[in-house]
Order: sequence, then structure tokens, then C-alpha cells
Amino acid sequence: VEADIVIGADGVNSKVREILLGVEPPIYTGFVAFRSIYPVSLLGDWRPASDAAKWWSDERHPANEDRHFIHYYLTRKRDEMYFVTGSPFPDWPGGVSSVPATKDEIKTCYEGFHPDVQRIIDAAPALSKWPLLERNPLPLWSRDNVVVLGDACHPMKPHMGQGAGMAIEDAAVLFRCIQQADGAFDRAFQMYRATRIERTSEVQRQSHENKWMRTKATDPTWVYSYDAMTTPLVDPETVDA
Ligand SMILES: Cc1cc2nc3c(=O)[nH]c(=O)nc-3n(C[C@H](O)[C@H](O)[C@H](O)COP(=O)(O)OP(=O)(O)OC[C@H]3O[C@@H](n4cnc5c(N)ncnc54)[C@H](O)[C@@H]3O)c2cc1C
Repeated sequence: VEADIVIGADGVNSKVREILLGVEPPIYTGFVAFRSIYPVSLLGDWRPASDAAKWWSDERHPANEDRHFIHYYLTRKRDEMYFVTGSPFPDWPGGVSSVPATKDEIKTCYEGFHPDVQRIIDAAPALSKWPLLERNPLPLWSRDNVVVLGDACHPMKPHMGQGAGMAIEDAAVLFRCIQQADGAFDRAFQMYRATRIERTSEVQRQSHENKWMRTKATDPTWVYSYDAMTTPLVDPETVDA
């Protein structure tokens, strides 16, 4: 296939990224996400105290460090329960994007957590386990007429809930840069990187740390007030390579 440009929006194992930077698998973080979705009828008459909550392990207990459990309803009617975790798991075998998980595994991991957590786990009919992968910020986002965005460019731990958001913002900004550059694709891609690099790298960094919203000191404005359709496009000459 011949094309004027190639936009690699092909995820964490991007082949297009390989064209730019060579073969290098993403970094396994040593954490997995246990996940399940099920009808709330499986909870009987009981409902958790909060519609949405993130339960964290207590930093004062090192053995329990950086372990969390998030639950929320997927529907406005509150009839579908979702949970997702960040759970230490040193030896991911690799090669697959998820595998089924057992109730015993997750119960062991979340032993001692709040009773709401226990009840939500107990009601799950099935669960899966996903490796959490990331990369360090890439040194190169484009060459000539080839460019990457989203997880192909900056995969991150999902702990700020921003991975898909960053991919969508990338697409909006890239579209504006291509429009503005009027056929000068290389220039458009440089402008896209210059506009996006600081924000995506900071979200990658904070997602890795998993401290987002953990305390009231978190100011979420910089994440949620960003408008990819109006944010000023940055001249690449003003940004360090
Ligand atoms: C457990 C977990 C929870 C998450 N929670 C959130 C959340 O709450 N909020 C949030 O914003 N993000 C979340 N994310 C992150 C989010 O899923 C990703 O950041 C997002 O999907 C990235 O979008 P993308 O389009 O860049 O890549 P992807 O969604 O991975 O899409 C890439 C596409 O390219 C296709 N593809 C790959 N290779 C090829 C090829 N060679 N040829 C053709 N097609 C190909 C794939 O099939 C896929 O359809 C979570 C991730 C995980 C693992």
C-alpha cells in the first residue's frame, strides 16, 4: 500500500514504532490489573458505600505497598459493576494481553482490605488479569512521513485513567498540526511532538508513581482543563530535541 503519511496508532506493541526506533519490547512494570464486569444483581440487595472508590494499600505497611482496588458503575442506571486493580505480580510470562485469573489470587492480594472490596470480589463470576506495560518517553516520535501516537508513543500504567484520553488528545492535536502545515508533513509532526511531549511525559511519570488523587493535595485541573482543540500549537524550534 502506498500512502502520503503513516500514523502509527497501533498500541503498546506498535510495529510503526519499530520502524522508527527498532525492536524493543515494552517494559513490564511488575504489576497486573485484575478486572471484572458483572451485573449488580449479583450483589443482591447490598451496594457499596460509594458509587466510585479507589482503595489503596497503606504506605505504612511496606509489604502492602502500591496495591489498589478501584470500583465504579459502568452505567448511569448503576446496573453494571466494574473493578480494576493495580497489583504486584513479579513474573508475567509475556506473549498475551490478558489471561483468566482465579478468585483465590485476588483474595490473597486484597486480604485485609475494606469489606466493600471483599464483597465486590466475592460477587464476581469471572475475572481476568492484564499485564501493566509502559515505556520511557520516546526520543523520537516521527521521521519524514511516519509518526506515532497514543500507546504506540507513550504507553503508561493506567493509574490516572488517562491512556486513552492521551491517545485521543494526540489525534486532535495531530489533526490540527497537519491542517496548519499545509502538506509539510515533517514540520506538522515536529509541531505535534512539541505541543504534546511535556504533557504526555508528565502523565506517564505520574501514572507510574500512582499517587494521583491519593491525597487532597492533588490539583487535577491541569489534566481535566486541557482542550486539545484549542491548546496553542508549539513551534518545534522552541522545544529541546
Ligand atoms: C487495565 C487497564 C485499564 C485501563 N484503564 C484506562 C482508563 O480508565 N482510562 C483511559 O483513558 N485509559 C485506560 N487504559 C489505557 C488505554 O486502554 C490505552 O491507553 C488506550 O487503549 C490506547 O489507545 P491506542 O489507540 O493508542 O492503542 P490501542 O487501544 O491498543 O489500539 C491499537 C489498535 O491497533 C491495532 N493493531 C496493532 N497492531 C496492528 C497491526 N500490525 N496491524 C493492524 N492493526 C494493529 C490493535 O488491534 C488495536 O485495535 C487502561 C489500560 C489497561 C491495560
